[in-house]
Amino acid sequence: MVKMLIDGALVDTARHMDVIDPSDESRVAQVPDAGTAEVDQAVAAAKKAYPAWRDATPEARGAVLVAMAQVVTDNLDELCQLLVQETGRPLGLAQFEIAHLAAGYLNYYAGLRIAPEILVEDDTRRVEQHRKPLGIVAAVVPWNAPVYIACNKIAPALAAGNTIVVKTAPSTPLTTLRLGELWQDVVPAGVVNILSGGNEAGAHLVSHPDVAKITFTGSTGTGRKIMEAASPTLKRVTLELGGNDAAIVLPDADVKAIAPAIFAFAFFNSGQVCAIIKRLYVHDSLYDAMCAEIAAYATGSKVAGGRDPEAQFGPVQNKAQYDKVLDYLASARASGTIIAGGELPDGRGYFVPLTVVRDVKEGDVIVDEEPFGPILPIIRYTDIDDVVARANASPYALGGSIWSNDAEAAAKIALRLESGSVWVNQHCALDPAVPFPANKQSGSGVEGGLEGLYPYTALQILNIAKPQAA
Ligand code: NAD
Repeated sequence: MVKMLIDGALVDTARHMDVIDPSDESRVAQVPDAGTAEVDQAVAAAKKAYPAWRDATPEARGAVLVAMAQVVTDNLDELCQLLVQETGRPLGLAQFEIAHLAAGYLNYYAGLRIAPEILVEDDTRRVEQHRKPLGIVAAVVPWNAPVYIACNKIAPALAAGNTIVVKTAPSTPLTTLRLGELWQDVVPAGVVNILSGGNEAGAHLVSHPDVAKITFTGSTGTGRKIMEAASPTLKRVTLELGGNDAAIVLPDADVKAIAPAIFAFAFFNSGQVCAIIKRLYVHDSLYDAMCAEIAAYATGSKVAGGRDPEAQFGPVQNKAQYDKVLDYLASARASGTIIAGGELPDGRGYFVPLTVVRDVKEGDVIVDEEPFGPILPIIRYTDIDDVVARANASPYALGGSIWSNDAEAAAKIALRLESGSVWVNQHCALDPAVPFPANKQSGSGVEGGLEGLYPYTALQILNIAKPQAA
């Protein structure tokens, strides 16, 4: 049985949790179920390891991150098989998450350095700006991209000189726990600790007084609770929460040319991504043509369990989310016209067909809320100023995109969106070197790039008065 990594040792618990394959609802594994004792143990280990890790050179820390990335790459096949089992997703998608994203973020932050800056230097004084690590980081991870999201928190936290305790999501702990086991030989004891456990373990971790910073990806509701938990000791907080990204197709766009990419960015990971297309606004002149194209791609795609080599899209990852997606399906049916999908298959597994709904508008639940599943609403517009205002009239502001034959004109419109990332003729283009900010209620703070390293540091100003002759 796979175990947790605490203080460099592999740790089991008396209680266990089931890991379910969402493509057939079978149990694929049992994993430890951390209680408060294991959380405290992990925080104590991170605390003990902190001074030596903080004082290690950036080069030495970078070398550990490179070794961790190498472990990911060396064990890619095994890790991908586990991820396919616990998420039901196709193998290609598991490979993308682990080889490209997880290893990519570890390698990127391994090479990043923050040099001290001299702010003022004259005959009387020198003022320097330094960035110091914060201490112990608590990372709480969701189920939709579990390995990538764990690594995009571990990498900057460690690079900056912090130690970390990671709490995996209750329904997808398996691959990350296994990675922790494989890292046992390359990471100094206590620098990285990986726990599996329920929401209570997460709540205990984020309220622990020894934790200096919380980094969280997940639902907006949990994000609010985490901000509250941070307040007694004023912990730093980075939150990556929900999104309801708008994509706007301008009247000059070539429908046939852009439809494949719009389809791919709307249904990526069966819609279970924070920053993919969740509201597709199409100009009146192209509306019918675009609806038909997207519906054709959806109808022609194979939704199946990840072990089926022909699978292009997997199931919804867990039963609770599946039930939510079914509610969204019912409200989509009630408010619009379903032109692809909509009918649930017989048999086991949390499968929802790729569903496209047209003739919907703001005020309909399927437009105002994120289904976090494979349902795309397509909305008609006629006026650019009006559609920009409608795209911005959301509490979320994670990503957004403009689609046009004139990329520069589209870029000007993209900059009028309020989201953290705005793209032209693409969506959700993630890159470790590029910051990924969350605006409005999509979160607070930023991950990725050098900007994503700063939130794992505290600024320190050194101000030296130079001795003067009497
Ligand atoms: P969640 O926010 O309930 O859980 C995410 C993580 O937080 C899990 O590890 C969970 O155990 C932990 N957690 C829960 N309560 C906690 C608390 N009080 N203190 C500390 N940790 C706590 O999200 P979920 O149930 O996994 O998904 C629900 C919704 O979240 C989805 O419908 C979707 O809209 C959204 N979601 C967003 C993202 C994203 O990338 N932004 C990812 C997954 C889910």
